[in-house]
Amino acid sequence: MTAHGHGWGQGRLAMAEQEPISPFQYLPVREGSPVRKKRDLPDGLWMRCNDCEATVYRKAVAENLEVCPECGAHFRVGARPRIQQLADTDTFEELFAEIAPEDPLGFKWRGQNYADRVKAEQEKTSNTEAVVTGVAYIKGRRVALGVMDGDFLMGSMGSVLGEKITLLIEHATEQRLPLLIVSMSGGARMHEGALSLMQMGKTAAALGRLDAAGGLFISMLADPTTGGTTASFAMLGDVIIAEPGALIGFAGQRVIANTIKTELPEGFQRAEFLLEHGFIDLIVPRNQLRSEIARLIDYCCP
Ligand SMILES: [Zn+2]
Repeated sequence: MTAHGHGWGQGRLAMAEQEPISPFQYLPVREGSPVRKKRDLPDGLWMRCNDCEATVYRKAVAENLEVCPECGAHFRVGARPRIQQLADTDTFEELFAEIAPEDPLGFKWRGQNYADRVKAEQEKTSNTEAVVTGVAYIKGRRVALGVMDGDFLMGSMGSVLGEKITLLIEHATEQRLPLLIVSMSGGARMHEGALSLMQMGKTAAALGRLDAAGGLFISMLADPTTGGTTASFAMLGDVIIAEPGALIGFAGQRVIANTIKTELPEGFQRAEFLLEHGFIDLIVPRNQLRSEIARLIDYCCP
């Protein structure tokens, strides 16, 4: 299991680097007394929480669903470990795994072909795309489940991601299953240009058909959910749940501040601020998520 700070600009979690971090590193250093570093700790056994700066035992964090045992900060989780956290043991059946992205524009960026980049991301994450889709049971309730992976090209929405989400929505509609999508995304995928933007309309239209059929869509927003993902399916849930502290927004804070030339309120793109202002319905800590989803399904689909 890994929590992801990688590639997002403001990762909330730093793994212990080559130098093992000593818990004493954060104590005030008295003049003249050398700080001794423990050299007998294997790499990665300890990690530092970027929120509270506590040095915590890696295994304790994993056992705590990738939540800091000291301050409760929710670290980023990849698609596969999140499915393990959410679904009843061994109940996840993957669907649409065979659909993989192509390179329709022959796109090159920073000297790298998009096609090669996709291959590297597939090897890194063991996913064909930045979303894993299928069906699973959560506390005995069968659900159509889609989980985005922020480690795959920043969880960006390309045409295959949009297609897989759409197929999952249609599967939920046909099979009359509650739908749960966990979003974690940097937005539209620039490597596919306008084809990425078309996914916003496509997923939204499919959700419209699910809604007309009386289906339930629970949208869960993990840290971070931004750009075209926020502007389409992620914000169209019948119930919108966010993880504590999750960054949720469309454009980045600096872009907005520069555009409207106004100082923005502290934490205005965090889950807590959005709850206070009515953009989301619930903030649910990770250890209560399964129970909360089961409760919502029972309430909405009696
Ligand atoms: Zn912490």
